[in-house]
Amino acid sequence: MNIILMGPPGCGKGTQARRLQDKFGMIQLSTGDMLRAAVDAGTEMGLKARTVMDRGDLVPDDVVVGIVLDRIQDIDVQTRGFILDGFPRTVVQAQKLDEVLIEKQIGINYIIEMKVDEATLFERIEKRAAEMADGARVDDNTETLKKRIVVYREQTAPILPYYARAGRLDTIDGMASINDVTMQLEAVLGNPAT
Ligand code: ADP
Repeated sequence: MNIILMGPPGCGKGTQARRLQDKFGMIQLSTGDMLRAAVDAGTEMGLKARTVMDRGDLVPDDVVVGIVLDRIQDIDVQTRGFILDGFPRTVVQAQKLDEVLIEKQIGINYIIEMKVDEATLFERIEKRAAEMADGARVDDNTETLKKRIVVYREQTAPILPYYARAGRLDTIDGMASINDVTMQLEAVLGNPAT
């Protein structure tokens, strides 16, 4: 089973993707994790990505598209299926993904949007910042988180109507508790036999 999980930063996509991976056995493909691994490894790509990520901006499409589309075609991912978490994040990425999926005859079973109220996300960030000790790093972090939400609204959310028009989008309430969100996701996917 192949799944795309969509939703703004801070909506809990990563947590849910890990839960689905554990329960259903597909492989979680998180572009955020892949990029952080490149940053930690100190590769040239990682060094370039780091500044962009620290600002809350998106890494260039060709960089991300390259790493994801390579990985999708690996044998383990082909066998077990995948959960894309954090990709696609732009309309161009969605189009490139579709091209490869069509070419390789790979189907996506579910595209699921975790819908979250943007104002609430901003409130959560403010609350977290207020609870932390003050200092420049905290402020930077708060600004980066806010920037990511704006980037989601401007660059990622426009993908949703693209999938919806094709009748491929399921939407669940991402504001519910973590367990409740998991249950909603499982309801969309259908419970596994075991
Ligand atoms: P979050 O879970 O908070 O949304 P991620 O771990 O998915 O964050 O991503 C962290 C950062 O990595 C993003 O803010 C962005 O800079 C970069 N990134 C991740 N995925 C992509 C992508 N598909 N395209 C461009 N940049 C990406």
